[in-house]
Amino acid sequence: MDDCLFCKISKGEIPSTKVYEDDDFYAFKDIAPVAPVHVLVIPKKHIANIASLTEADADVAGKMLFAIQKVAKLLGLDKDGYRVVFNTGEKAGQTVLHMHAHILGGKEMAWPGV
Ligand code: 5GP
Ligand code: ZN
Repeated sequence: MDDCLFCKISKGEIPSTKVYEDDDFYAFKDIAPVAPVHVLVIPKKHIANIASLTEADADVAGKMLFAIQKVAKLLGLDKDGYRVVFNTGEKAGQTVLHMHAHILGGKEMAWPGV
């Protein structure tokens, strides 16, 4: 999508601190971290959010969990644990309409956090 911040980041048109990349996914450090480790994982395909997924996205949606697993391991979070957040829609506070998983870790986290 032409006018999408995260599409531009995944294509390298806007700089970011890359953590991981493969054919389908791109992971980079959040510009305003809310935890000691805060990385965003995005599909290269433009999908607005979970609410807008269709059957055509089944493959990328399934693979995204494995990309998240891989990135969390690269970040060294797999032993201690981490939180994965998909803000979806306005009331959830989604500010960028390109589906992204926040991987949060490096500290003890409270739950519930709503
Ligand atoms: P949302 O609020 O949509 O769930 O999350 C969007 C996230 O993207 C926020 O945590 C925000 O800090 C991050 N973000 C927004 N613009 C940029 C940017 O230009 N670069 C990076 N690395 N992160 C961004
Ligand atoms: Zn996009």
